[in-house]
Amino acid sequence: MLSLLVCLKFLCTGCGDPIEATLQCEGQGVADNDGAAVKIVCPGCRARNQVIFTPDGSIHGVMRARTYERIPEPSLN
Ligand SMILES: [Zn+2]
Repeated sequence: MLSLLVCLKFLCTGCGDPIEATLQCEGQGVADNDGAAVKIVCPGCRARNQVIFTPDGSIHGVMRARTYERIPEPSLN
C-alpha cells in the first residue's frame, strides 16, 4: 500500500502566521491525484484554512474554508 507523508507549509488566511502540517496520504491513486483539499485549523486564530495540494507537497491554493452558510430556501409558489 502506498503511503506518503506530505508536508504542507502555508500562511494562515486568518492571521497570516505560517502553518506547517504533515499529512499522511494513503491508498492507491494518491500519487496521481490532481489535487486534494484538506481543512486545517490554525492553532493561533482558529481560522479554518482549506488547502489544495498535490501529494508531491506543492500547494495549489489556500483559501478560507467557509463555515456552513444557510441558503435561503426559495418558496415554491
Ligand atoms: Zn491563524
